[in-house]
Formats: sequence, structure tokens, C-alpha cells
Amino acid sequence: ALFRQAKFFTTVNHLRDLPLHGGKEVAFVGRSNAGKSSAINTLADHTRLAYTSKTPGRTQHLNFFEFGDGRFLVDLPGYGYAKVPPDVQAHWEHLLSRYLQTREYLCGLVVIMDARHPLTERDRGMLDWFAPTGKPVHVLLTKSDKLSRQESTLTLRQVKAELAERYPNCTVQLFSSLKKLGVDEADAVIGSWFEE
Ligand code: GDP
Repeated sequence: ALFRQAKFFTTVNHLRDLPLHGGKEVAFVGRSNAGKSSAINTLADHTRLAYTSKTPGRTQHLNFFEFGDGRFLVDLPGYGYAKVPPDVQAHWEHLLSRYLQTREYLCGLVVIMDARHPLTERDRGMLDWFAPTGKPVHVLLTKSDKLSRQESTLTLRQVKAELAERYPNCTVQLFSSLKKLGVDEADAVIGSWFEE
């Protein structure tokens, strides 16, 4: 597993606090409850790693994990769950959009989508912020164990087709944290970003 050695590094709530570590980052983002923490924990082979990010007071923050050789995983705040006050929402949008658009160390973005409800409006917003950078995006369609084989194949094909039109630098795969499906494929795609 790519992130096996991952250890909590820092938590950030303002752009000025982003660490100048000089290494490379990959960020994970997704709608709350889509299965982001489970996916991170599965890829890290580590049952509690990403739940660190769910510690009260950290859920709106960027949580950094280091996994050796100047490589970092960044767990971005989940979106679209509860109704948040407008000022919190505005701060969140500013932080996320600026991070995605300007972060030099960021070498790729992983977007977590529930395979049963892919490509929400917020998912598209996230992709729209990031696409101009030209950096790669990889979509994990999680909880694929909840779909039949036929449904998964169809969903994968549809999401691929929709993304191909607007986001040429985007790849998609099925994933399941419950069944540990798609782990090698995700490791290979994300791992390749650190080699470039
Ligand atoms: P997050 O809010 O995006 O971090 O989502 P979590 O990882 O906390 O998962 C939300 C819920 O979905 C939890 O009840 C998980 O047990 C469940 N879940 C996450 N991944 C999977 C999966 O691959 N298969 C199934 N069946 N359930 C999952």
C-alpha cells in the first residue's frame, strides 16, 4: 500500500499556514459520507488514519499526512453535508479553491464519489477549480460493492464518458473499501504522480 507509512503531520485552516515542506502532495476530496475516510484508510492499510481528520474542530481543515521521502497526503474537508453558516462556507470555498488552483506541491487530485451518486454539482465545482492547472485527477467510485456487476460496469462507463468531455486529464475506477477492490489500481495511478 502506497500510504502504509503515513503519519499525521499537521492541520491547516488558513492559506498562510500551508507548510513549505518542499515535497509533493496528493489531495483527497469528496462529498461527506461518500467514503473518503474509508478509502484513505484502505489505501494506507491503517484503520484510524483518516478519522484523525474527523476530530471535532478539524473537519473544516486541510489535514496533512506524511508518508516518507517528502511525500504527503492531504485530506481536504468534505462538502455538502450539513448546512453551514455563510461565513464558514465562504471561508471554505476560498481556502479550497485557492489551495487547488495555486498549490505548487500538489501533483494530483483524488475525487471520491459514491458509485451510486456520482458527479454531484459540488464534485463538478471541485473539478472546475482544478482543471485549469492541467494536473491529473483520479476518481474513485467507492462503495461499488453496493452495485451489481452490471450496474458498476455501466456507471463506470457513464462517468468516464461524462468526464472525458470536460476534463481530459481525468481517470476513473471502481473502488470498495469494504471489499478492498481497486486498491492496486489506485496505488498505481496515484504512485505514478510522485514519479513525474
Ligand atoms: P467520508 O465522510 O467521506 O469520510 O465517509 P466514510 O469513509 O466515513 O464512510 C461513510 C459511510 O460509508 C460509513 O458508514 C462507511 O462504513 C461506509 N462506507 C465507506 N466505504 C464503503 C465501501 O466501500 N462499501 C460500503 N458498503 N460502505 C462503505
